Amino acid sequence: MERREFIRTNLAAAGAGALALAGAQSLWASSEPEAMLQNEKGEYTLPPLPYAYNALEPYIDEQTMRLHHDKHHAGYVRGLNKALKALEEARRKGDFSQVDYWTRKVSFHGSGHFLHSIFWNNMSPEGGGKPGGALAAAIQRNFGDFSRFRAHFIAAAAGVEGSGWGALVYEPTGRRLLILQVEKHQNLTAWGVVPLLVVDVWEHAYYLKYQNRRKAYLEAFFHVISWKDVEKRLNRAVRMS
Ligand code: MN
Repeated sequence: MERREFIRTNLAAAGAGALALAGAQSLWASSEPEAMLQNEKGEYTLPPLPYAYNALEPYIDEQTMRLHHDKHHAGYVRGLNKALKALEEARRKGDFSQVDYWTRKVSFHGSGHFLHSIFWNNMSPEGGGKPGGALAAAIQRNFGDFSRFRAHFIAAAAGVEGSGWGALVYEPTGRRLLILQVEKHQNLTAWGVVPLLVVDVWEHAYYLKYQNRRKAYLEAFFHVISWKDVEKRLNRAVRMS
């Protein structure tokens, strides 16, 4: 089935709640491995890693990648499906007494699923170095130069309180890049932005190899960033805005 046809068929069956999420999905997804985040039943699915578990060694170790993808990310996918199912049941029964609880679960697990799906593709064994093209120009315009951007991004991600993410995003109304801190998966975003480059700073992302040295992990992360993927996301976000 063509992707467009799949989405149309899927949306017709899945109703308005899934429509909003699928909209976010198609906006956020730009690489093939995350293009199909749902199956034919309208359930979210875990996208495979776009490389081997050990491909990012020595910067990100195999054991961390296995646990992170197969256990943590999979848990968010399950949690999202479970919450959507509970809300479907609530609508069927006309019982919305637990709607606050499940709506928060959609936000938490959904954001966890979407961010991890981007994160895997933001990294590549061929990554590292510096961005080029439109992305390099945008970084120059919005942050001064690459080294200032890098220092700002690492400081922001290192400073996230508790569990969260560092994020480089495209802000369409100002047509500019911003660096944001994300708490948990869903807090402290700015509405309307499109994530381009995200780095997971939950302890599960780095503790096995780096323990409390989050900054060392972030410096290692820069050796595996796929600037090609980030630039592709920027070009897509600009086209769609
Ligand atoms: Mn994670």
